[in-house]
Amino acid sequence: MINKILVANRGEIALRVIRAAQEMGIATVAVHSTADVDAMHVRMADEAVCIGPAAGTDSYLRIPAIIAAAEITGADAIHPGYGFLSENAEFVQALEDHAITFIGPTAEHIRIMGDKISAKETMKELGVPCVPGSDGGVPDLETALKIGEDFGYPVIIKATAGGGGRGMKVANSAEEMPNAFGAARSEGKAAFGNDEVYIEKYLTTPRHIEIQVFGDGKGNAVHLGERDCSLQRRHQKVFEEAPGPCISAEERAAIGKTCADAVARINYIGAGTIEFLYEKGEFFFIEMNTRLQVEHPVTEAIFGVDLVREQIRVAEGRDLSFTQDDLVINGHAIEVRINAETFPGFAPRPGKVTAYHAPGGLGVRMDSALYDGYSIPPYYDSLIGKLIVHAPDRKAALARLNRALNELIVDGVETTIPLFHALLKEQDVHSGDYTIHWLEKWLDREYGGV
Ligand code: ADP
Repeated sequence: MINKILVANRGEIALRVIRAAQEMGIATVAVHSTADVDAMHVRMADEAVCIGPAAGTDSYLRIPAIIAAAEITGADAIHPGYGFLSENAEFVQALEDHAITFIGPTAEHIRIMGDKISAKETMKELGVPCVPGSDGGVPDLETALKIGEDFGYPVIIKATAGGGGRGMKVANSAEEMPNAFGAARSEGKAAFGNDEVYIEKYLTTPRHIEIQVFGDGKGNAVHLGERDCSLQRRHQKVFEEAPGPCISAEERAAIGKTCADAVARINYIGAGTIEFLYEKGEFFFIEMNTRLQVEHPVTEAIFGVDLVREQIRVAEGRDLSFTQDDLVINGHAIEVRINAETFPGFAPRPGKVTAYHAPGGLGVRMDSALYDGYSIPPYYDSLIGKLIVHAPDRKAALARLNRALNELIVDGVETTIPLFHALLKEQDVHSGDYTIHWLEKWLDREYGGV
């Protein structure tokens, strides 16, 4: 049994975990930087420990400080949220050494999936369909050119350690290969300390479809359908929904089973997301995230489950509280990510929130750590809230989203709320007819290439 959870994160996701723990009767510890003394997660947790200066590398990413905070407060488990240390195998290993439970998968699984080449090899072996491409790493330009010729252009060169949309370059022809190959390598080296790259066929009209899986670490696993996250800017998701508007029940059952079986076979524990590009009825694996996703609430809405509660339960060694047959989709859910950024420029705009009013009513959930008078610090991610709506069908969900966006007030800072007002006026958004390239093309067309 877990008695006290330290939440190694901040912002809305820290609140998300604290709320689940409170409902389970588990005590909570917040950790925070000096810049976050007045943050909501510090107020909501039972205890709080300052772990260092403002910069993430000096606080939320400092493993010894976080372990010390757990030891001092007697926390017996740590939930990492997403980002920061959530996919850091070294951290998980260190917790094992200190007999602190990590609410998430094993260090080994994090390591395998954190390296995109080993992730792809593992998934291939487990029978998951992958994007055609190189067998593992591509050592030099000569090999890269050979692969480009074999698969046909365009191809995408990806850093094996990449993430957050970085370390990826497209080559449309052999002429573009030297630059793209060099850039992907140097970006991988600079951002992740690893210049190994691999090559995939670049799909020109895919949707981003990801499957939520959940394992108990004892060889049992289920899937919770898909999320469509095709509306992206710079490979970052801005609008997510479940179920996917273009996925049939048969497709869902088939790919869901493939994914659940795959993670069951490796005794995966906890929440995971297997990401695919989906084109012309085919799924192509791109990566697996071994953590809770930002967009998990849309899945919670349509299945009526609490994924954080479930993460805590399996970390305690308990069985899953649902079987595959229990998981029946009810309605449609949409999430929009609201950032403290200009629109249409997308430049970060931290600052003081002079007024905040969250929307409410039937089928509306607002996950945010904002409050009136809160000063958004400039040191972290610009996500300030997630608005999630749930309704009987997609059309009703879009109407509810529109209504809820009209109720939402965030004054004092610029936000991306106008982006969603504008998107809701687009016919393609209503018909659900778009690929991963739609949003950037639309921004180009409407706002002149921001
Ligand atoms: P990251 O780990 O940086 O998020 P991913 O491998 O998940 O990188 O890819 C992020 C996004 O990049 C995808 O959602 C898609 O938009 C684009 N992408 C990745 N691989 C391909 C590919 N083979 N063809 C076309 N687009 C791709």
